[in-house]
Amino acid sequence: MKIKNKKIIYLDNASATEIDKEVLKTISKSLKEDFYNPSSISEGGISVNEKIKNSRNKIAQMFSSLADEIFFTSGATESNNLAILGTLNNFQNIFTKPHIISTKVEHASVLEVLLTLEKENKIELSLLEVDEKGSLDIRELKKNLKDNTILVSIMYANNEIGTIFDIKEIAKTIRHFRKNKKQNNNFPYLHTDATQATNYLNMNVISLGIDLLSLNAGKIYGPKGIGILYKKRNIEIGAVFKGGDQEEGLRPGTLNAPLILGFEKALEITNKIKEKEVIRLTKLRNQFYLKLKKVFQKHDIEIRLNGSLEERLPNNLNISISKIPSDLFLVELSMRGIYLSEKSACKTGEKKSSHVLNALYKEQNSQNESLRFSLGRATKKEDLDFVIKSIDEILKKLKSWYL
Ligand code: PMP
Repeated sequence: MKIKNKKIIYLDNASATEIDKEVLKTISKSLKEDFYNPSSISEGGISVNEKIKNSRNKIAQMFSSLADEIFFTSGATESNNLAILGTLNNFQNIFTKPHIISTKVEHASVLEVLLTLEKENKIELSLLEVDEKGSLDIRELKKNLKDNTILVSIMYANNEIGTIFDIKEIAKTIRHFRKNKKQNNNFPYLHTDATQATNYLNMNVISLGIDLLSLNAGKIYGPKGIGILYKKRNIEIGAVFKGGDQEEGLRPGTLNAPLILGFEKALEITNKIKEKEVIRLTKLRNQFYLKLKKVFQKHDIEIRLNGSLEERLPNNLNISISKIPSDLFLVELSMRGIYLSEKSACKTGEKKSSHVLNALYKEQNSQNESLRFSLGRATKKEDLDFVIKSIDEILKKLKSWYL
């Protein structure tokens, strides 16, 4: 990608740089043609409504779900909030203080909601620990399930270290627990934030065995500002926003046809290239990691891989480096047109070290500063070779100050 004729290698959050060209075409066409309110009974409104219906059907098929299980939102943050607050609304009259289980490494749009509810004394919260590789011990989940547990919210793949959680196994554990309860009922619900998973992992909601799933279009080279909450038909959640009866009253507000049609296109393309991209990026990422280790070794600087290399999204590499502050490294790289981030792009304003790395290493320290490389559709081998060459130069320069 080029900005003001300067080549930019964007390894920050690859999906945020470019919208897919086909998606853009779909959105532009729809912006011109589909301005009518889809809830209106005018000819124009009916036509837009039909297009949304068609997109919803196709999207549902891509998740192996039913059309009335797909709810459009403004993004993954809203989907996560709706899954959690909506579940709580549904159980408020049943338990005085319902119990929710999640993990210490969730995205802020899950973690902050849960911590706020706990502070307000509205829920009892259990946040599961992860080990040094960022993995969950399923026995910990089993131990924490109780009769008043209404929700288990565990992300599919982590946005900082790329660790993949075994959602199928988690779902199996919850199904067992439900069956063995005195009153056989359909809770705890299982919610997963699949925002980082959509590009690379299985998204079949039946085979995953989940009840609620969040994702957005921006991460799959679609438009920002639109998300989906999948809600299984047999579970109830209460609306958070009040208003019209769009999306069965669960998410009121005029539907945005261009973004919905764009979302459908982005999903279609993602599914078409998923298998190939997984193979290509895994190879590229692993080669890059080897070269990265070598170049740091050459300068006597240790690097630590954060998270497991195996149970990891193919596009993610997260390392900590000894001796040199990572923000200085980021500045040096950006001067050479290479952009990456220290932690979640949503949290770059914070001075604190990453809550994800603090959870892995059970302490908060400067070693938990990190560099996150996220590869994407545009990433080529030559780009990564240029990154290695630049790191070599930077180390030569910074070594004289730091070592
Ligand atoms: N969950 C995860 C795992 C994410 O990575 C993000 C975006 N970085 C979100 C939720 C929030 O998504 P949105 O910006 O669409 O609200």
